[in-house]
Amino acid sequence: MEIKEHFIEGENVKSFVKSPNHSGEFEKGLPDTIVIHYTAGPFKPALNTLTNPRIRASAHLIVDRDGSITQLVPFNIEAWHAGKSSYGNRIGMNKYSIGIEIVNSGPLTKSGNVYRSWFGSAFNPSDVIEATHRNETQPRFWHTYTEEQIQTVYELCQLIIDNYGIKTILGHEEIAPLRKQDPGPAFPLDRLRNKLLNEERSTNEAAELPEVGRVSADVLNIRFTPTNDGAKVAMPLKKGAKVKILEESKGWYKVTTEVEGWVFAKYIENI
Ligand SMILES: [Zn+2]
Repeated sequence: MEIKEHFIEGENVKSFVKSPNHSGEFEKGLPDTIVIHYTAGPFKPALNTLTNPRIRASAHLIVDRDGSITQLVPFNIEAWHAGKSSYGNRIGMNKYSIGIEIVNSGPLTKSGNVYRSWFGSAFNPSDVIEATHRNETQPRFWHTYTEEQIQTVYELCQLIIDNYGIKTILGHEEIAPLRKQDPGPAFPLDRLRNKLLNEERSTNEAAELPEVGRVSADVLNIRFTPTNDGAKVAMPLKKGAKVKILEESKGWYKVTTEVEGWVFAKYIENI
């Protein structure tokens, strides 16, 4: 799969069905967040709802049970998936985020050996897990996601992260906790963001920062803080001194030789 001109392309992509329910383009530097949802029902009614101009809702993508993808809104345009929502000091998450809907029926009620959704469909025990929602204290029954869906959502998120510099992945249940319970405990949301955001970020940073360098200025002050007025740790470093680079901050490197402290990065050449 790949993203071209704000559209997803590839084998798993079933179609583009244009939804009229959207605002204009995201502001500069946005989106920086992905919000995960479930449809609370099968694919067809979800598609109808999310493309119906009278129901002012949409999402960028719907992932069906077989992992196939339908796109409704291009990724550079604000879709209407979050509703009344907030996170940190942000209010109204539509203008910050790409919304992915996954076809799933949500919480189920057990009667005898049958599990039923809110709209009356019956599910086999193999399609059900008992788990406690992050916003609740007691376990309930939930419709499971398929392996194909989870795999597809991983790949989609990875692509969207790479293309748009996404920093955060959230569940609708986290940005509208009093109203919403999707994607719910059947979806491995914590695993997804740990795998795609934390690990990736740490390897990227490690790859960008050189390990060692050599002082290129005649003398180079080494300071306790990464600022021009930071107190000096020791006598200045001499030209040619080899340093180990530990950390970077706004044009400064924290380095160690015999002493440790901050130097102006411009005067450290890579070796
Ligand atoms: Zn939702």
